[in-house]
Amino acid sequence: MSSTTIKNVTIERFGHASFKIEGEGMIIYIDPYVLPDKVDYEDQADIILITHEHYDHCSPEAIRAVRKSDSTTLVPESCTLEFRGDARRISEGDMLIGDLAIKGIGIEVVPAYNIEKSFHPQGTGVGYIIEVDGLRIYHAGDTDFIPQMKDISVDVALLPIGGTYTMDEAEAAEATLAIAPDVVIPMHYNYSDATPADAGMFKQLVQDKNPDIEVVIL
Ligand SMILES: [Zn+2]
Repeated sequence: MSSTTIKNVTIERFGHASFKIEGEGMIIYIDPYVLPDKVDYEDQADIILITHEHYDHCSPEAIRAVRKSDSTTLVPESCTLEFRGDARRISEGDMLIGDLAIKGIGIEVVPAYNIEKSFHPQGTGVGYIIEVDGLRIYHAGDTDFIPQMKDISVDVALLPIGGTYTMDEAEAAEATLAIAPDVVIPMHYNYSDATPADAGMFKQLVQDKNPDIEVVIL
């Protein structure tokens, strides 16, 4: 478990694709699955974002651990699970910004899918761009390097590098160069045997081509 603070926003990665983002008085969990043993009330979620239905991204047990009575959960239309409380179905292209922002947090729902693998067909999963205290953060979900990434403009990108189900280090480095965030944080690697990756190699590949992009390994 480790975290970084960028401007006024703290980004914590528990492992795999599970993040807690805290800023503007809000706590946002994305794909809670790997979590601390106990999540105290003050660390529970105002907003929970689920990228797709696979067990390592949409874990009922983990959602129960972070959910409060007033949490808002966003889940893709394709999820078959039932959710309690304020759960909203979203799909790629949704723009929850301005008057539609969730508890003051602007959220854009973007595509996430595989190109030559069959695990994540387009339309089943999503990525999210959230704006917290002026900082735009992109959680890519389980995806390959897809053409739509070239249109993504963010300060921080959380990108999978583990291969097999998603981009590997080299593909994720190409995606990083296309997106050109200030900071990139690799995820979705070294948690299961099927997603071995070398975050140091990913960092080298990015910085050899664009030393202005900071690679933060959490
Ligand atoms: Zn998946």
